[in-house]
Amino acid sequence: MRKNLVFLGPPGAGKGTQAKRLAQELGLMHISTGDILREAVKKGTPLGKKAKEYMDKGELVPDDLIVALIEEVMPPEGGVIFDGFPRTIAQAEALDEMLSKKGMGIDAVVLFDVPDEVVVERLSGRRVCPSCGAVYHIKFNPPENDEVCDRCGTKLIQRDDDREEVVRNRLEVYRRQTEPLIEYYERKGILIRLDASKEIEEVYQELKKVVGA
Ligand code: ADP
Ligand code: AMP
Repeated sequence: MRKNLVFLGPPGAGKGTQAKRLAQELGLMHISTGDILREAVKKGTPLGKKAKEYMDKGELVPDDLIVALIEEVMPPEGGVIFDGFPRTIAQAEALDEMLSKKGMGIDAVVLFDVPDEVVVERLSGRRVCPSCGAVYHIKFNPPENDEVCDRCGTKLIQRDDDREEVVRNRLEVYRRQTEPLIEYYERKGILIRLDASKEIEEVYQELKKVVGA
């Protein structure tokens, strides 16, 4: 059976950067609830309209909407890296139930461990391509040409929720609503801590080691 992995950690820890690369290398599906929601907001779908007000404030989108979204995109045979999901105990329980109904489970939960000051520096320098979704950092992972996407040439932008006021709230929301998942998965014996404060390549090599890739 193919692996199901969960990437857990604060916003800006580097989950998306590593998930995109590992999913490609291992042939897994990368499910980022944040990416799916941003796409829904851009297209103005009913989900996007409901989600936008929460995202703009750095609050979590209600669990029922997120769980319905995951049910829709989950491949029946598994083989997924979940990035930014689950973010609450209720979501984690829903995921356990969904997987066990299909005779699957989570193989490992990787906790991206980084101090707050690193997270703030990473988020404030993050730039994204509004067209293809590629993620850069002005200092740590800059594009070849100033502020333009290497892949598709589109002008890069800063995410609305990477503004300082929203970042502060997102970190608080993480502490309050998502951090309890650390204990939840520790108890199940599937939590792996990863020092994600190192540079991108080093984190990637360590990540491959800990997930046995
Ligand atoms: P998350 O998905 O956890 O919110 P991202 O993968 O989008 O985080 O990374 C946040 C920002 O930090 C991006 O600008 C990314 O380029 C940068 N980044 C990711 N990993 C590292 C790292 N190990 N060192 C320095 N910068 C990083
Ligand atoms: P991210 O791209 O993971 O940083 O997510 C951006 C925003 O999307 C978050 O601040 C939330 O508003 C929303 N979001 C993403 N994933 C979830 C989730 N699993 N549960 C609730 N809200 C989410």
